[in-house]
Amino acid sequence: MADGYRGRFAPSPTGPLHFGSLVAAIASWLHAHRHNGKWLVRIEDIDEPRCVPGADTLILKTLEAYGLEWDEEVVWQTQRHPLYAAALEQLKHHTFPCACTRKEIPGRYPGTCRNGHPPGREPRAIRLRVPEDMPCGDVVLRRADGLYAYQFVVVVDDAAQNITHVVRGADLLDSTPPQVYLHNLLNNPVPTYIHLPIATNAAGEKLSKQTKAPPISPAGDTATLRKAIAFLGVAPGPGATCREILTATLSQPNSPTYPAQR
Ligand code: GLU
Repeated sequence: MADGYRGRFAPSPTGPLHFGSLVAAIASWLHAHRHNGKWLVRIEDIDEPRCVPGADTLILKTLEAYGLEWDEEVVWQTQRHPLYAAALEQLKHHTFPCACTRKEIPGRYPGTCRNGHPPGREPRAIRLRVPEDMPCGDVVLRRADGLYAYQFVVVVDDAAQNITHVVRGADLLDSTPPQVYLHNLLNNPVPTYIHLPIATNAAGEKLSKQTKAPPISPAGDTATLRKAIAFLGVAPGPGATCREILTATLSQPNSPTYPAQR
C-alpha cells in the first residue's frame, strides 16, 4: 500500500479553519506521510451559496502557516462541473427525477418519485436509487437548485484524484455508506475510510461555524498545533516551528492512548 497512498484534506470554504478542522487536516497529513504517501488539498466549494468569499485563500494560507504543505495542485470543485456531469450521465440508469420538496420528506426518503413523479409536479432534484437495506435512503445527486450534492461530488473527486485513504471526522460517518455505494456503481476502487474523534466545545457540541467555533490563528501557532496533535493521541515531536514539530511528530511512536481520551 505504501507507495500508492494518496490522502486528502477537503475543507469547505464556509469560513476560517477552527481547531476541529485543524485536527482533521493534521490527521490526514500525518497518516499520508507515515505511509510515504501524497497529501492533497481540495477546496469543496460546490455549495456556492454557503461559501464565504476569500475563505479558500485564507484556509490555504493557514494550512501553510501550520506547516501543512500539499503535494499537488489544489483543486476547486466549482472548476470541475464537466467531471460531475459526466459521472451523472454514467449513473443515469440508477437515478430518477424527484419532485418532492424538502418539507415533504421529514426523514428517510420514502421513495415517492422512484417510479415517476406525481402528475402536475415539476421534477426538481435527481436522486440515486439506493437498496432498501441501506441506512441512507435515495440520496440526492443534483439538488433542486441545480447544484451537485456534496455526497456525489466527493465520490467523483476522490476517484478522479485517485485517493486511496479518506481520513476525516466521525461527523461524516453517515456519508460513508452512500459514498461507498456510489464508488461501486461507478466502478471505482473504494478508498479506505478512517473517521476521527470529533473536537467539541465545553457544551459537548462539535466545533463548527454553527457552534461559533473560534478561528485558529492564520499565522500558525505552535501551541495550537501541539494541542491538535495531542488530541489525536499522538505525542507532538519537538521543534521551534510548526513544520519542525510536524516533521518530528512523524518519527514519534504511536501513542497507546489513541483514539484520544477525554
Ligand atoms: N468538505 C467536507 C467538510 O468540510 C469534508 C468532506 C470530506 O472530508 O469528505 O465537512
